[in-house]
Order: sequence, then structure tokens, then C-alpha cells
Amino acid sequence: MDYILYVLIFIIGALFGSFFTLAVYRIPIRQDITHTRSYCPKCNHKLKFWDMIPIISYIFLGGKCRYCNERIRIRYLLLEVLSGIIFVVFGASIKLSIANIQYQTLVYFIFGILYIATIFIIAGIDKENVKIEKPVLLFGFICVGIYMIYLYIVENDTNMYRYVIYLILSCLLLLFSIGYLRKKGKDSYTTDILILIMFMLLFTYEVVCIYTVIITLIAIVIHSILNKLYISKNRFVKKIKMENEKIPVGFYLCISNITIMILINFIIF
Ligand SMILES: [Zn+2]
Repeated sequence: MDYILYVLIFIIGALFGSFFTLAVYRIPIRQDITHTRSYCPKCNHKLKFWDMIPIISYIFLGGKCRYCNERIRIRYLLLEVLSGIIFVVFGASIKLSIANIQYQTLVYFIFGILYIATIFIIAGIDKENVKIEKPVLLFGFICVGIYMIYLYIVENDTNMYRYVIYLILSCLLLLFSIGYLRKKGKDSYTTDILILIMFMLLFTYEVVCIYTVIITLIAIVIHSILNKLYISKNRFVKKIKMENEKIPVGFYLCISNITIMILINFIIF
């Protein structure tokens, strides 16, 4: 029985996956993500329903646009498969099963999926533009907020003070970022990274976040070393541009956070 459940979870993951690519592409250019129909970025032809079925459409169309034959990057297919796999692994990590389903586990799973979706979109945009999108973070905070209210009312969680502390800190950082840094025209990336960490603390707790930060620091060191090696090997290639290139810290935080959250779930569930 359970593998029907996991096939279903994989399909949901793949659907989310095709939404991630759309969100990562459209949010930074302030395009509508829910009402405007998907279109081919080359020929602008609106896509039909059967052009947008994750994975299957890609395979049947041979990785090309039906209307202009433009190649669709394999990245889209890989992202859809990958997010399907991650949703399945997340479900397995909390031992989701039809035979002994508990509503607490199911509710955690649903909010977990929303959390992973938020983190993925933040990671994708940060990797492309080195920018933390506040509207996406806001969506995440609302989801986690609803989950907190659920924990308080239904599961009588008494550890509410930590949520309150992180929420107050997030609001203060957000005020600082929007009210002060943006008005002064200063870079708010560091502050936005701190807000992202507060968001992670709310849903994945302190232990996961400590590991997340440690692994991110290691990733940043490796990133810088590789960057330096690349520059010294290609002395003549855009030297100035490479040196000024910012490191997508948010991207590394997001990837390590999701990995560690799932690993620790395997241990505690
Ligand atoms: Zn096209």
C-alpha cells in the first residue's frame, strides 16, 4: 500500500519542482506566478496543459519546445526529478505510512513540504541573483506561523517562548533591513541572511541550525578556494569581475538546512 502513497508524494514533488523553476525565473522580475499561464521564453507561445506535465512532457517533446523547437534546458527535468525524490525522502524520514498514520505526522509533513518549497525558491533565486527575496520569506513566515498556532492549540506545545523570541528578532531585522538599510541605499544582504536563519530556527530548531551554519561556513571556504584557484588559472579572464563576485550564502544555508533536517528526522522519528 505504502508505495502508492510514495508515488503520489513523488508526483506532488515533481509538480512543485516545475513550479520552483517558474518562481525562480519570475519572482525577481516581478512577474505574476499564479495567474499568468506558462509560456516559452523564446517564442512566447502559451503552453497547453499537456506541455506542462512534469517529467512526462519533457520526455515526450524530446526536450524541445513544441512550437519553435527551442531546446529546453535539461536542468528543468533534473529539478523536477530531484524535488520529487526529496519529497519522497522527507516522507520516508518521518516514517509516513498509510497503515499507522497519525494526524500529527501528517500535519508536520504538510507544513514540512511548504517549508521545503519556500527554502528551495529562496535557494534558487539566491544562486542566480545573490539576493534573498523578502516576499518569499514572508510566505514562509505565514506558513510557519499557522503551524505554530496549530502546535499551541492542538498539541499543547509549551515551548512557545522560543517562537516569540525568533519572531520578534525577525521583525526587528526586517524593520532594520527595509526601514534603515534600503532607505540609506545600503546593501541589506547580511541582514536578510540573518532573517533567513531566524526562519530556519522557527521550523527546524536549534540543533539543525547549528549544523546548518557549520556546514555553510565550510561550503563558503571551499567556494572561496575554488574561486581563487579559478582566477589564478585564468589570469586573463574577467579577473576583476570574478574577485567581486558575491558568494550565495543563502543558497548554501538552504541546501545544508534541508539535508540536515531530513537526516535528523531519520534519527528522531
Ligand atoms: Zn518556443
